[in-house]
Amino acid sequence: MTDRIRCINPRCRRTFAAGKHSGEIICGKCFRILPEATRKEHRGYWREIRKWDRRITRTGDEIKVRRMRAVRDTLSVRLNLHWDTYIKALFLAPDKPEGLDAFLEELGM
Ligand SMILES: [Zn+2]
Repeated sequence: MTDRIRCINPRCRRTFAAGKHSGEIICGKCFRILPEATRKEHRGYWREIRKWDRRITRTGDEIKVRRMRAVRDTLSVRLNLHWDTYIKALFLAPDKPEGLDAFLEELGM
């Protein structure tokens, strides 16, 4: 399956159509087993990014747009950092927190 993207959790077998998504992805099921704080933060970044995207589309002022894009880009960098540190690392690190490991096992993943 070359045209499918796999869920970031190596133990999860879900895949997504490559055309719709790019880069790394987590399925809804795996996302739900993340700690509440991590999910909240992840959603928070996305909410902010979408908010700035909407603002950028509505603004006609080129200088303002440039500044808004800078803010949006910073948020995007933070989101990626958060993804790597708190989401990806959780699934890929060999020393996963015990709680999550036990939980994954329980789910048969
Ligand atoms: Zn998954």
